[in-house]
Amino acid sequence: MNVVELIRKKREGGSLNEEEFRYLISGYIQGNAPDYQMSAFMMACYFQGMNREETSSFTRLMLHSGEVVDLSEIPGIKVDKHSTGGVGDKTSLILAPMVAACGVPVPMISGRGLGHTGGTLDKLESIPGFRTDLTISEYKRVIRDVGVVMIGQTKEMAPADKKMYALRDVTATVECIPLIAGSIMSKKLAEGIDALVLDIKTGRGAFMQTHDRSMELAKTLVDIGNGFGKKTIGFITNMNQPLGVAIGNWLEVVEAVGCLRGAIGNNDTSSDLMEVTYVLSGAMVYLGKKAKSIEEGIEKCRESIADGSAYRKLLDIVRAQGGSIDAIENLERYSLPKFTIEIKSSEHGFIGEIDSFELGMTSISLGAGREKMDDIIDMKAGIVLKKKVGDVVNVGDSLAVFYTDREDVLSAARKRISKAFKVTPAQSVRQAMVLDVVDKNGVRKW
Ligand code: URA
Repeated sequence: MNVVELIRKKREGGSLNEEEFRYLISGYIQGNAPDYQMSAFMMACYFQGMNREETSSFTRLMLHSGEVVDLSEIPGIKVDKHSTGGVGDKTSLILAPMVAACGVPVPMISGRGLGHTGGTLDKLESIPGFRTDLTISEYKRVIRDVGVVMIGQTKEMAPADKKMYALRDVTATVECIPLIAGSIMSKKLAEGIDALVLDIKTGRGAFMQTHDRSMELAKTLVDIGNGFGKKTIGFITNMNQPLGVAIGNWLEVVEAVGCLRGAIGNNDTSSDLMEVTYVLSGAMVYLGKKAKSIEEGIEKCRESIADGSAYRKLLDIVRAQGGSIDAIENLERYSLPKFTIEIKSSEHGFIGEIDSFELGMTSISLGAGREKMDDIIDMKAGIVLKKKVGDVVNVGDSLAVFYTDREDVLSAARKRISKAFKVTPAQSVRQAMVLDVVDKNGVRKW
């Protein structure tokens, strides 16, 4: 067996068996198969896909590329959430402390920015001092002491995903159902959970842009979760415009903190964000058996915002993982990038569309994401929307503000952001944010 043969087999539409996947993945982890061979293999997967058995073998081998953590000594049903990736998606930053404040332990392994979407790890690392590279014993200590821990893939846990995720990000091989399934489920199954909530994004800012493809991904992920004995519920949610208002790492932390303090997220431009966050967190509280239904779980999560316990839990996480409490308590002290540029409307009417894919790509060009594997992110760069779909707009109104240190991208960013907003003469009907629920019993509308 050799790697070139396996690449050729997949390129020609053949199926790999478990032995062949083991050879490929362990060779890649040990450095015997270089990045360029793995890139070619992933591109072959992008075009040829994998059948059900291949997806399951691939996920199992990704999972067993590292340690599977045993959290059985931690009391309670451990529940996590994972999103397939969106623009402005900071739900994890809000729901992890909220669910932990409701008494459900949340062990969370997240990823970095991928393609046009942001990643929870990069957002967390925008908090000065925050460590996402905990050892397994530190990970266990934080979940035991705080009830929630937020880290990244490590050399010990899901190392195959750590390497392949970074490579997919820069080789245009993200939008592939089996690769997404292996990536997400290997991390989630390694972290020691009992149950899992999945947020499968659909629409312009998602990796799966049609409802059918999102449903296929949802069913694949839910089947794998249940097949591994973890109660798994998936929600298909709307990603046709950015979630909330902020796109970019520190900017998203600021918005998430505002939501956790209860200062924003109700009947304002961040309310779509909280609508999705409450459903996902309500389902986590239900799976963690602290509520009899998802609806009761949502109520408990609302209470955790109202009584301040969710915000206090965020401070506990930041403290336990070495982050600066001062930065969170005094958000305005964090310095802004060199350029702050406002984009104004040249039309009047209603905002009919905001192209989230375009805004995700533009935020990368501003410095908020990576174009190459070793790019250093500018944590403060990004975009803040001033209008959302359905809002009235007049000539001269502010549509968005963007922040960057890069002078050479200003003019292109101005054009791209202006073009991302479509103004229409009539107000469009508000789109539902949570569309379907997928679980072991099948699919139903939310
Ligand atoms: N999130 C992940 O962790 N992996 C993917 O491939 C996509 C989203």
